[in-house]
Amino acid sequence: MSQTRPRVAIIGGGIGGLFAANAMIAQGLEVSVYEQASELGEIGAGFYVTPNSVRHLQRVGLGPAVEKWGSLVGEGSQYMRDDGTPIAPVQVTDASGWNATYGMHRADFVDLLAAALPDGVVHCSHKSIEFEQSDDKARVRFVNGAEIDADVVVAADGIHSELRPNVYPPSTPVFHGTISYRGLVSRDRLPDWPMDQWLMWAGPSKHFLVFPVRHGEIVNYVGFVPTDEEMKESWSASGDPDKLRAEFKGWDPRIEHLLEQVDRTFRWALYDREPLPTWSKGCLTLLGDAAHPMLPHLGQGANQAIEDGMALAVILAQTDKASVPAALRAYEKLRRERVAEVQQGARQNGLRVDSMSDYADLELRDAELAAHAEFRKHLYTYDVVPEAEAAAAAL
Ligand SMILES: Cc1cc2nc3c(=O)[nH]c(=O)nc-3n(C[C@H](O)[C@H](O)[C@H](O)COP(=O)(O)OP(=O)(O)OC[C@H]3O[C@@H](n4cnc5c(N)ncnc54)[C@H](O)[C@@H]3O)c2cc1C
Repeated sequence: MSQTRPRVAIIGGGIGGLFAANAMIAQGLEVSVYEQASELGEIGAGFYVTPNSVRHLQRVGLGPAVEKWGSLVGEGSQYMRDDGTPIAPVQVTDASGWNATYGMHRADFVDLLAAALPDGVVHCSHKSIEFEQSDDKARVRFVNGAEIDADVVVAADGIHSELRPNVYPPSTPVFHGTISYRGLVSRDRLPDWPMDQWLMWAGPSKHFLVFPVRHGEIVNYVGFVPTDEEMKESWSASGDPDKLRAEFKGWDPRIEHLLEQVDRTFRWALYDREPLPTWSKGCLTLLGDAAHPMLPHLGQGANQAIEDGMALAVILAQTDKASVPAALRAYEKLRRERVAEVQQGARQNGLRVDSMSDYADLELRDAELAAHAEFRKHLYTYDVVPEAEAAAAAL
């Protein structure tokens, strides 16, 4: 089987592409990653990984790195009203009680994924511009004049994926009328801040989230506020710290105290897309935000990209070159339903934490935030590997 195993080219060296490369190498596949930027990197912002993806990070040998760079959050993590009144604990474990919810600095996470790959796997300064395929081979051309052939091409090139139109006609991302202000504050400037808690304040049409990153050295905050201004989705648009402070004036004094320490903030408009009816065509498939950009209100975009990568690696490891299109169909069949549930859940949770729609009734909102723990347990307990193995065996 090994000589007929497919060679894989991944376009995009973000969290999704780099994890998929790790998972494929762990499965014995030959893989290369092509990234448009001249070097791998991420700007300063946090995100969190949850048990449903941490189990895969552990499987490919990245458990110690996650523990080293992550900040485990646990007891005391809670939802609060905007004035700080507690509503309910935040679910951080799976159904077995395993706690693996870590705040991470995005740059640390990209570094740890890249550091685990053998030299020569990642090729920077490779922006893909053209894709074509025949029955058994795919070809990608890059701006720098290079071109490569592969048996499988994985488009992990983000929400504005340039390869996606080769799978499904272009669609417009859906803007949700919200921007997030994101940024980091050194622990030294907030010496009393609890560095083992995930805290969220839910108020009328806004919410504020804080969790630690980089093994408790940095406090990560995100403030979500409504806007009429539709801006391009971007990591790097600068925001005005005074405007951010004004948005949360009068909220819990802990938020005002944190925001007093903010010198620099970034704005990011929130987009997702309607679920795609198909992710694959021939030897080309989509992964991560290229397949399923989602709102951040369940913190699952990167976690779902990791599940995608694990599922695809397990299936491709059991596939010969001739079966690639069938294997990619099996992968998307397995992933589409799960991801659509998470995309929809993120939209719903956004309405809830922003007290919109029916949730303007705060008693109902608070009751649902308490009940939300069950959904998170279900989300975090899911393990994609047994299902991927079954899908591969059925090929
Ligand atoms: C406000 C906010 C908060 C979030 N918080 C969380 C969270 O807490 N937890 C979580 O799991 N997720 C979170 N997410 C979502 C998460 O950040 C994304 O889902 C995740 O980064 C997607 O990874 P990706 O690799 O698919 O795409 P990206 O990270 O966008 O990576 C795509 C890569 O492809 C490269 N690329 C693009 N075009 C080309 C090309 N033509 N050729 C070569 N390379 C190309 C890009 O340079 C980039 O490196 C959040 C998102 C937002 C907006």
